[in-house]
Amino acid sequence: MAIETILNGLQDYIEYQLDEGNTSAEMTPEILEKLKTPMPQPPQTHSNTSTQTGKDHAADLDAIKQTIASCTKCSLHETRTKVVPGQGSAHPEIMFIGEAPGADEDKQGQAFVGRAGKLLTKMIVAMGYTRDEVFIGNILKCRPPDNRKPMPDEMDTCMPYLKQQITTLQPKVIIALGATAVQGLLQTSTGISKLRGTWMTFEGIPFMPTYHPAYLLRNPSAKKDVWNDLKAVLKHLGRKPPKQEQD
Ligand code: URA
Repeated sequence: MAIETILNGLQDYIEYQLDEGNTSAEMTPEILEKLKTPMPQPPQTHSNTSTQTGKDHAADLDAIKQTIASCTKCSLHETRTKVVPGQGSAHPEIMFIGEAPGADEDKQGQAFVGRAGKLLTKMIVAMGYTRDEVFIGNILKCRPPDNRKPMPDEMDTCMPYLKQQITTLQPKVIIALGATAVQGLLQTSTGISKLRGTWMTFEGIPFMPTYHPAYLLRNPSAKKDVWNDLKAVLKHLGRKPPKQEQD
């Protein structure tokens, strides 16, 4: 944690020096010591206004992450390499929720970093955000062996963690990626092709179901449906897609 803080501080310090027109920067033990104290971050363009309340969601999120890291409530803990609690802004406007970690995610401990993740990144950027400005998580925090579908009992066992994350993050919109995310959160058996593009709510939070990026890799023609769903989300947030993405 201290190393991460120091590295972030160093980056800020170097960027500050460059902004000031300096091409070299003094580094003393005193400066290094100061970098151990996290610098206050400027408000992000796309962060939820609840940032301004000053409530430290990051600390609460971190506590949930620690609990997940030692979870042994279902058998998936026996086969996981790393838990994948999800990552991103602690004050996101948008929270994306997928199904479960795959092989790449299990190795890295980060949600959506494989092929489907790369497509999700493109979707996020097309909306005018960065991955750091949204939160990306899953119904399950551990990889099911051989990427099989999550079992109902695994979803029930893991759901309290996701609910705690949602309660902490208070996103303005939840985007559910694929049938498992919708079924896990809304307890519905209606198929994703019927539900996608239809506004719903989850615990009072506007909820938009759409197709999973992995489905889009197999069915690229469905990308236009997803883009329509994402545009509906932007409209709800009073935003427009960046210029090059407008139709
Ligand atoms: N698919 C998911 O649903 N989640 C991931 O994190 C990766 C792939």
